[in-house]
Amino acid sequence: MSDLEDLYREVILDHYRNPRNRGTLTGDAVVRAELQNPTCGDEIELALVFDDQGRIADVRFAGRGCSISMASASMLTEALRGKTREDALELDRQVQAMLRGEGDPPSPDQDLAALSGVAQFPVRVKCATLAWHALEHALGS
Ligand code: ZN
Repeated sequence: MSDLEDLYREVILDHYRNPRNRGTLTGDAVVRAELQNPTCGDEIELALVFDDQGRIADVRFAGRGCSISMASASMLTEALRGKTREDALELDRQVQAMLRGEGDPPSPDQDLAALSGVAQFPVRVKCATLAWHALEHALGS
């Protein structure tokens, strides 16, 4: 195993063990979506709220599932804060392409790059994309 694969494994496990932005949000302005991945049993609820400049002010996830699904959701919440709806959907496109093995990580210095290896394991791609599909639902896209 390469050093890079070791590093990526560590990043994924760190997000799994210490999930960022876990929880939920309340209020009329909150948009949310709930999705499941039956092949693995992963369940994710995503909640986010925009500020009055149209940027994502807060984003939280809840649910349970395998390390890949939970780490991907944790990384998503970190990557989305401050983004507009359009920026969020552009990031979603880049991440989904990376997870299909069709593109580079959106930004090499981000933890999201650690998910790039998932493309080699088709069964796990559904785990990794679950939170991102939930984002699309939440944004009505
Ligand atoms: Zn899974």
